[in-house]
Amino acid sequence: MVSIEEAQRTILEQIGRLETEKVSVFQGLNRVTPEDHVAPWDIPPADNSAMDGYAFSHAGMADGSLKVTGFLPAGEVHDVPVPPGEAIKIMTGAPVPPGCDTVVPIEEVEEQGDRIRLRGAVKAGTHVRRRGEDIGCGNVVIQAGSLLRPQEIGMLSAMGSTSLAVYRRARVAILSTGDELLEPGSTPMPGKLINSNSYSLAAQVLDAGGDPVLLGIAADTLEATCEKIKAGLNADMLVITGGVSVGDRDYVKAAIEAMGGEVTFWKVNMKPGKPLAFAMLDGKPIFALPGNPVAAMVSFELFVRPSVLKAMGHRRIFRPQVKALLSEPASNKGSRPHLVRGIVSLEKDRYLVSTTGNQSSGRLSSLILGNGLMKLAPESSLAAGDEVEVILLDRGFEMGCVEA
Ligand code: AMP
Ligand code: MG
Repeated sequence: MVSIEEAQRTILEQIGRLETEKVSVFQGLNRVTPEDHVAPWDIPPADNSAMDGYAFSHAGMADGSLKVTGFLPAGEVHDVPVPPGEAIKIMTGAPVPPGCDTVVPIEEVEEQGDRIRLRGAVKAGTHVRRRGEDIGCGNVVIQAGSLLRPQEIGMLSAMGSTSLAVYRRARVAILSTGDELLEPGSTPMPGKLINSNSYSLAAQVLDAGGDPVLLGIAADTLEATCEKIKAGLNADMLVITGGVSVGDRDYVKAAIEAMGGEVTFWKVNMKPGKPLAFAMLDGKPIFALPGNPVAAMVSFELFVRPSVLKAMGHRRIFRPQVKALLSEPASNKGSRPHLVRGIVSLEKDRYLVSTTGNQSSGRLSSLILGNGLMKLAPESSLAAGDEVEVILLDRGFEMGCVEA
């Protein structure tokens, strides 16, 4: 049996970055740029007023009474030098005229006809945003490998970009296997059950920023499995669920091998989700995950999600892990590390965690209740208050709520 970390390492070594594509700056949100972005000019491009007020020369301020000789709204320029003792009424964002170095806000002057009187002391250079104080021309503002958030989108726009290169979204084909499966919307029948894995896995792909391609259900035969896998090779990766154990009707491993793929089959030292197969076929990674709904999703979390993120250029590919205090006793009587679905909360700056109850790997509701996976070592028994490592699947619990 291999450890989770060993399996992750071996898989990630095989995952290359996808090509890049050109998208509009706006479409670049949540994508990763392969290039440094250099400011083509100073931002802001000129000294400008940070307030609606009056611009003047601080040295020529004299007794604090100034003659107002002009009005400068944002979007216009006053290029005639302003003599000492005079002021220009200036609106926020307008370039500070030559001869001026200081702005006083409207609220801090007394307006007296065509003159103003400063109400108090004014520091030289105040309320002026300096040319290039945000970003200097020629500086790298966004580094290669950065994730583009709304602030990067804004900065790229301020630098005049309308399009840019980003790593392409990974197209991830998803295949369910099993003669027992019916698609949602079908009438329930004895011996059959609804295919939910295709949709939970597709949603996990979307959540990682990838582009899921649903291949439907392969019947439990070698031919049907091969045919669907062939279709999956049009995508960048293929995720298969079910049919990967050693049952009489488990054809996934045999099908990949029949098509020329070399399968690394692991019994990963984890619960849920022991069987995991990984193969490269025609240069495409294939992940064969267990069929049980929780095992499939947890295996996706640990092995597929980091691979999708890596392929799409991300550097941060693993979920955050925190230490939490158990709010009830918890034990793992088994011989494999148990990833117990947990409910994590934050109280007085400390993470608390309790289990979601029955941990059967077919019980999808255990993932609905939970927001984390606590790692319980084999043959361990922990008391309430003991510390446990938790993988956070979502951090919604840290957000503030609206009043009911
Ligand atoms: P298998 O690994 O193919 O033996 O599947 C194990 C169990 O997982 C099956 O007996 C089903 O109960 C369940 N299962 C397999 N595939 C799916 C699926 N696509 N959606 C929901 N449950 C599934
Ligand atoms: Mg099956």
